[in-house]
Amino acid sequence: MNFPFHDKTLEGQHILITGATGGIGYAAAKAAVAAGARVTITGRNEGKLSELKQECGDDNVFAVRADLSKPQARDQLVESAANEFGPITGLLNSAGIGGGDIVENLTEEDLRGIMELNYFSLVELTQLVYKGMKDKEKGAIVNIASLSGLRGTHGNSAYSASKFAVVGFTQAFALEAIEHGVRVNAVCPGYVDTEMGRNAIKSKGERNGRSYEEQLDLAKESIPSGRLTSPEEVANTIVYLLSDASENIVGESVKISGGSVMR
Ligand code: NAD
Repeated sequence: MNFPFHDKTLEGQHILITGATGGIGYAAAKAAVAAGARVTITGRNEGKLSELKQECGDDNVFAVRADLSKPQARDQLVESAANEFGPITGLLNSAGIGGGDIVENLTEEDLRGIMELNYFSLVELTQLVYKGMKDKEKGAIVNIASLSGLRGTHGNSAYSASKFAVVGFTQAFALEAIEHGVRVNAVCPGYVDTEMGRNAIKSKGERNGRSYEEQLDLAKESIPSGRLTSPEEVANTIVYLLSDASENIVGESVKISGGSVMR
């Protein structure tokens, strides 16, 4: 796919990207740098962070290894990012985990672990970054929710609840933040062709006695466009939402799902 933006779309911006070692965050970091931003990337996989930094060009990327479920790590991340590239003007909350099971098999560890990272850590990191944006009266925050944050699906209650929480937070916080020139939006992808997307298809197949390929075919058949979304397509929507081109888009949950869910 051709990159639809130019190298000044995010010029002058410093974007913090969580989950940058994962499929969507990785693609978003590359897209943000191509759009002219300087980017702080964070994730837990040191090797992947170095690879991404090299791919993007060392000067534009600052990499920080961090476990976002740890308060101290979040504090250090935000502080070191601002020291390196100045005030953070854009935040992409992409770190997330899937998993869980049907409700009767759901463990407390799954339930709390999923909510801890997908919701609490996201909110607490956002609080830290928002302070600086509010002072400057400008900023854009994009939270990756999911179609699972808009409607329930079988065997997915823990993840779905965490993503409903992200959508609710996005809408309510957007009303506060826009009073200070900060835009908050969410993106809600359907199946994306990343490790997490493939694992979700695999688990669903296992629960229903189907191979990965059989479950993948069923997933594609259920999508009007007939295919999964690529991480680059999600990244393009993120760049748009981080840019001034989306200046009056506030509190939205932008679906990227080939027509799977419409409302
Ligand atoms: P991925 O598994 O490829 O990436 C997830 C990222 O989160 C990784 O970089 C991982 O290191 C990071 N992460 C997990 N736990 C962490 C922790 N404790 N501290 C720091 N980082 C941590 O998944 P992806 O497909 O790139 O997903 C990115 C986001 O998109 C997630 O929030 C996910 O819920 C959401 N999403 C994914 C899909 C899909 O089909 N792939 C669909 C809808 C929404």
